[in-house]
Amino acid sequence: MDSPQAENFITVTEVGPRDGLQSEEKFVPTDVKVKWINRLVDAGVSRIEFSSFVSPKAVPQLRDAAEVIGRAKRCETTTMAALVPNVRGATNAAEAQVDEMVVFLSASESHNLKNVNRTISESLAGFKLVARIAGEAGIPVHGVVATAVGCPFEGEVPSERLVDLAKHYRDMGFIGIGLGDTTGMATPPVVERAVTAIREAVPELPISLHFHNTRGIGLVNVIKGLELGVTRFESSFAGLGGCPFAPGATGNICTEDLVYLLHEVGYKTGIDLEALCRLARDIESHMKRDLPGQVMKAGPRLQARGTDEVATAKG
Ligand code: ZN
Repeated sequence: MDSPQAENFITVTEVGPRDGLQSEEKFVPTDVKVKWINRLVDAGVSRIEFSSFVSPKAVPQLRDAAEVIGRAKRCETTTMAALVPNVRGATNAAEAQVDEMVVFLSASESHNLKNVNRTISESLAGFKLVARIAGEAGIPVHGVVATAVGCPFEGEVPSERLVDLAKHYRDMGFIGIGLGDTTGMATPPVVERAVTAIREAVPELPISLHFHNTRGIGLVNVIKGLELGVTRFESSFAGLGGCPFAPGATGNICTEDLVYLLHEVGYKTGIDLEALCRLARDIESHMKRDLPGQVMKAGPRLQARGTDEVATAKG
């Protein structure tokens, strides 16, 4: 099996169980979540953001984070990461023995205030406390910057802001920085600007990219990230998701579509694409609505078809 040490290996983080589900009003039973996560582990996904240790009142869908991780299959080759919004979340995440804690703030003050009701410096102060709890438990912390490549309220995000946050993250000992395109405002030049600025200022901090497909160019941004040498991308199964606090935001880029693209252009992910497509189709039937993922519907390009299976083109 392909391991993260392999040449051309891309770490795909499945954020469906967290980002994908968080705005779903109808509660997905814990059993079902655990089954989906176990299938991701079996399919070879190397990192899963399985939930958020957020207040059950804020996001009722994720109120079962501790139970989910308590029952999910753990495997050395899959990192189980959870969002941790505050000290209480960090304590609970440490108790639940997550592999990684993920903290987040928004690059713009107005989005941060709306999203977590704190200023950016208040968020950073909170991260220090989280980092201490994580450190005592021996758990690494990954820092995310939401609305990193554009804010629906403030527009363009200056590179200096990203660099400044990256330096804070490095100084707190975080293992990486994730750039979240929460409302799908990324374009290839914006991605290039952001990645280059951070890399020049803080080259030792690995960058991961988290795109939403709001404007239909999520995978185009991935290609730009790959060209820049980024090796960590986040996506959601079946393209499920949206951000309840970001107007007009739609789902993440779709995991099966991302993995299909990565394999076709010569990268390794360690992921069984067929198994992922089967899972995505099951998620779609559970949700009882059409989800955006495309490869789960069309199949890989060289999948053999019967002649009566494919309609003849008429136009
Ligand atoms: Zn997201």
